[in-house]
Amino acid sequence: MTEARPVRAPRGTELTARSWQTEAPLRMLMNNLDPDNAERPDDLVVYGGTGKAARSWAAYDAIVAELTTLADDETLLVQSGKPVGVMRTHTWAPRVLIANSNLVGDWANWEEFRRLEELGLTMYGQMTAGSWIYIGTQGILQGTYETFAAVAERLAGRGLDTPASSLGGHSTNVSLAGTITVTAGLGGMGGAQPLAVTMNEGVAICVEVDQSRIARRLEHRYLDCQADDLDHALALAVEARDALRPLSIGLLGNAAEVLPELVRRGAPIDVVTDQTSAHDPLAYLPAGIAFEDWEAERTRDPEGFTARARESMATHVRAMVELQDAGAEVFDYGNSIRDEARKGGYDRAFAFPGFVPAYIRPQFCEGRGPFRWAALSGDPADIAATDRAILELFPREESAAYERLHRWITMARERVHFQGLPARICWLGYGERHRAGLRFNEMVASGELKAPIVIGRDHLDCGSVASPYRETEAMLDGSDAIADWALLNALVNTASGATWVSIHHGGGVGMGRSIHAGQVIVADGTALAAEKIERVLTNDPGMGVIRHVDAGYDRAAEVAAERGVRVPMAGW
Ligand code: NAD
Repeated sequence: MTEARPVRAPRGTELTARSWQTEAPLRMLMNNLDPDNAERPDDLVVYGGTGKAARSWAAYDAIVAELTTLADDETLLVQSGKPVGVMRTHTWAPRVLIANSNLVGDWANWEEFRRLEELGLTMYGQMTAGSWIYIGTQGILQGTYETFAAVAERLAGRGLDTPASSLGGHSTNVSLAGTITVTAGLGGMGGAQPLAVTMNEGVAICVEVDQSRIARRLEHRYLDCQADDLDHALALAVEARDALRPLSIGLLGNAAEVLPELVRRGAPIDVVTDQTSAHDPLAYLPAGIAFEDWEAERTRDPEGFTARARESMATHVRAMVELQDAGAEVFDYGNSIRDEARKGGYDRAFAFPGFVPAYIRPQFCEGRGPFRWAALSGDPADIAATDRAILELFPREESAAYERLHRWITMARERVHFQGLPARICWLGYGERHRAGLRFNEMVASGELKAPIVIGRDHLDCGSVASPYRETEAMLDGSDAIADWALLNALVNTASGATWVSIHHGGGVGMGRSIHAGQVIVADGTALAAEKIERVLTNDPGMGVIRHVDAGYDRAAEVAAERGVRVPMAGW
């Protein structure tokens, strides 16, 4: 059978494959295509435009057949979504090795990729689509939460007068309580912003031109309320801020009009960002065009529309810079609005930084990044037990990072709806990830969990990606485009005992713009799994530490020295 059909991973403890080491990739491949999880499962598309889990339904069936019979000393090779070989290896070797969408440098562009895809020779793997570790929108929410948590730390570091948390109130508790954030765009990614701000205890005003997007976020409880107009939004925001009460407010309007008005009024805004689809000028509504006319106007005159969108983005970004001049913390959230505003004629567009250099890189220096896991049993009680284990392992009193980890897990338990197999994500660093993995393995061994756990991560991690427009933008030593690190990351995970390892090209930023690697390891409760987990979950974030030591980051050097990461030419 090679046609599209609904796919859902088996649950429970009965094995389809010969061991949990092969059952795990089998279930996770199927889980990526679960209609609850995938955007267009019939086309094998999981997320991110055209990110696929397998090249064709015939290839999918062949991968399933191979994983079902694969022995614990064999390795399946997958080339851009198609199984191309099974090799005799050994028990420490990965059971699956994956390479997706890779093209030689001069050929690494969309045109050539699409030609080859048309011929059936490749597929787009995105990051976690073709590497079988996608867990739905929880990933976006957590990444956005983490970014706003880092913004809160920056505000505290600047000595901005942000009242202590309304919840905890002890010294490690840095939050957005008592601050107002203004942003725009409540789409697929941007819709996570209001909840991420309130999870950090702040107040958010979210400007959006499309009423249906506001309604959707209200329905899913990502947004608390909608204001009637700007006066109402500001009144609600100030009242909640003064009461140290988290609140997210939707405001129907155009950011290119609302933000300049905030400047004009001298509104008390502490944080400003944006997640309109600025990277594509046809997906940004210029001021002066009614929402109802958007489609017709961009179809009628795409060039003229682009020019008007850029002009509006210039006005929008000018207001962001002016709010920065007035003392607000301002950052670009990965949508290229600075560059579009520059093209629209505004010469101070790059006066504020991108979010990775501003907030995420210090975390990468500590080997911190998006650690995630899924329960192969399919039972939400297994994730609830792992949540409790994480909270015990990393006590909130010990650091600000653990405080925000507690806040995230506690709120995620209440607010995150599982898509496909129950799963969880949280950011952990070097010296922490392997402790969590070993604890999960013990819980499987003792029967506290009903079935094994798979532990993986996004490719957007500290030491696994080269991406000059995002994760490696503005590296201290100018090494933004050096991709050796991502390849070494895949090699070291393979050498350390990961269960499956992948190397991809393109991902979220497109062909020619990034190379990245992923790993997944199975905690099946055995002693062998414990040995592998200790190595993989130490060495994988260790790559983040050494990559940033090499680039000259002091914090990475401190972490390496404190936690015993060996870096030959750095003196220890
Ligand atoms: P989306 O297209 O689903 O949503 C964009 C929203 O912006 C839409 O709801 C649209 O109505 C609204 N909008 C457009 N023009 C507006 C205006 N002038 N004023 C107010 N609202 C306006 O896009 P998305 O998936 O939410 O992504 C948003 C942006 O974030 C994209 O540019 C995307 O490339 C970027 N992005 C960032 C990251 C990251 O890591 N931070 C990752 C991926 C994508």
